[in-house]
Amino acid sequence: MSSKSLISTDVDFDKDGKQFGNLFVPQSTNSAGWANYYVPIIVIRNGEGPTAVLSGGNHGDEYEGPVTLSKLARSLEPEQIQGRVIIIPMLNRPAVDSGTRLSPIDGANMNRSFPGNPTGTITSMIADFVANQVIPLADLVVDIHSGGSSMHMAPSVNMHNVADQEQMAKMIEAGRAWAAPLVFIYEDVAGAGLLPSYAEGLGKVTLGTEMGSKAQFGVETLAITELGVQNVLHWAGILKEKPAEAGTSEPQVVAAEDPRDYIMAPCSGIFEPFFELGDEVNEGEAVGQIHSLEQVHREPDRVLAQTSGSVIARRSIPRTAQGECVMVLVRPFG
Ligand SMILES: [Zn+2]
Repeated sequence: MSSKSLISTDVDFDKDGKQFGNLFVPQSTNSAGWANYYVPIIVIRNGEGPTAVLSGGNHGDEYEGPVTLSKLARSLEPEQIQGRVIIIPMLNRPAVDSGTRLSPIDGANMNRSFPGNPTGTITSMIADFVANQVIPLADLVVDIHSGGSSMHMAPSVNMHNVADQEQMAKMIEAGRAWAAPLVFIYEDVAGAGLLPSYAEGLGKVTLGTEMGSKAQFGVETLAITELGVQNVLHWAGILKEKPAEAGTSEPQVVAAEDPRDYIMAPCSGIFEPFFELGDEVNEGEAVGQIHSLEQVHREPDRVLAQTSGSVIARRSIPRTAQGECVMVLVRPFG
């Protein structure tokens, strides 16, 4: 896309010091014909050095990112770093405002909108600005996610298995440095246009996360997120001092590279899980069953695993439609 972004900002990416500012996204609404929607952005810079771009709230119902990154933006001072940290705590701020995965303004999924469109709806305008004016500045890209409303996740740092082996080795090293319990290599089973895929495609060391869920939001997942961001900033040579706490010393590197590892509901109903996070499942075993709402006399439909592995994620909304993911299995990577 070659047209120019209509988004402006009051931060200067090349200025030393700490700046709290906004992206101003032009909007015309029922309540204001002329308006700007504000998306907060923070730039912390101290001379030459690597650049990290940190984002949260890509999905609006995943709160670890907004909380961790707002706290970091307030506490991190320029003298603690060398180089630059660019923070967008609420990438899809309208969605964070409404507590929904997708934007309430245009119904779009920010993490299916990259590389965006400068003259599209609000979500694709933000994606375009981030894709063309922010991510290219980065050496390290971190996009913080969790299971949100629909999934329980074992806390992980994640990435795709990219073709460039040198890049992949660096991403796994950065993932380990986070010191979360798991480093998770995943496949896209629900469409394209992800921010991490875009950044990986530019050759950036890119980390996503799955830090828990709306229901798991709290002390444990926030601690893993907060410490991990600092660990990775130190790994990248940006944060000068090593964080005092260590985190998990030996993260396990696991992968779900077979599409059948992402177990989808064969029919609609109420999904009853038979396993929890971390449990081992064998191929052919039922991971749960789906109860019919219409035919109560019928035995529930059993949902069978087509691969073997341990449970890294399971559905957290009992009501389930055909084709929705109910469980994800992983095996050791490599
Ligand atoms: Zn997400």
